[in-house]
Parts: sequence; structure tokens; C-alpha cells
Amino acid sequence: MNAHFRPGRGELAHLERVSVDRSFHAILRSLEAIGSAGAALALIRERVPEHEPEPAVFDSAIRFLDALDRGAPSEEALLTLQIRVLNVLGFSPTLDRCVGCGKVPAPGRAASFDAPRGGIVCRACGGGRLVLSAGALRLWATVQSTIEYASAPWPELERRQLHDALDQLDAQHATVGVRERTGAASGRWEGRTP
Ligand SMILES: [Zn+2]
Repeated sequence: MNAHFRPGRGELAHLERVSVDRSFHAILRSLEAIGSAGAALALIRERVPEHEPEPAVFDSAIRFLDALDRGAPSEEALLTLQIRVLNVLGFSPTLDRCVGCGKVPAPGRAASFDAPRGGIVCRACGGGRLVLSAGALRLWATVQSTIEYASAPWPELERRQLHDALDQLDAQHATVGVRERTGAASGRWEGRTP
């Protein structure tokens, strides 16, 4: 769908015209897919600052709706979108080394995760509240490095671990003021380190 706006007074904009380029009718056949699509749009509205064009988020959202429309598993699709939105906005956690000392976890080993500290934390640095299995860490890295959406369900354990870690990150960001968050993200977009 294309919507053309011109700025109006305050928060309101005048909607000038709308054209439907494509639709995602098949989503309406599944309550799970509808729920997932609603949660995704709420997430984007919450995370992306108003009036800031964010083409990478838009592109990921279209691919997400397309995946749901084609019958992709809805929780996997939503988790994938969450990971990509964090990535685009500069809030991806550090998953390849300890955020405290930089130690790289042994390949194939699980790691502790702590959202308030921004990623995985080794035992010597105090560990974290959640565990991410080697499979979950690999899955997260794969989701970040591709643009595709999974067409088959993920293993139950890995899906649950990613879900819990993203929940913890979400709660973490909810405590950061919108202005602060927007400032950090804008800094990132302009190539400055916040
Ligand atoms: Zn450490």
C-alpha cells in the first residue's frame, strides 16, 4: 500500500491518496498470523521515531508480511522481525564475545545472556540471567545476516531462548526514554557513536 501524506498541524497529517500495490489476504485466514502481524506493527510503531524514514525497517516489514502471507510460522517470523529491527536501529546485543572482558565463547558452547549488560556475559564477569544454547546463538547470527524468513518452524528450545532474550531486551529498552532512544538511534544513522 502506498499512502501519500502532507504534513498538517501538530501530529496530524493530511492523507492525500492511498493506492494498494499489493495485499496480504492469506494472513487473514490464520488468527496466529493476524496476532503476529499486529504485534509486529505495534513494535515498529513503538521503536521507529516518528517522521523518520526507515527504509530497512519498511523492507523487513514487507518481507515479514509476505512470509506470513505465504504461511511461514508466525512466531518465528515475529522473532525474526524483532531481531532485524533491533539490528537496524543499532540495539543488537553482542553475541560473539563477553560484553565484560571480550572473551570469545568456545564454539558449540552455550552462553549466559544479560540484556541490561547488552549481550553475553562469561562466568568470570558474573554471567547472565538467561542461557542461549549454541544453536540459539547460531540461529540469531543467521537471522541477522540474511533477509529471508524461515519457512519451517525452529527447534522448540532455540525458539524459546530467543523469545526470552528478546523479551528481556524489550523490557530493557522500555525503561529508556523515547527521546534518549531516538537520540541514540539518530546518532547511529548519521554514523556517529552515541
Ligand atoms: Zn567476561
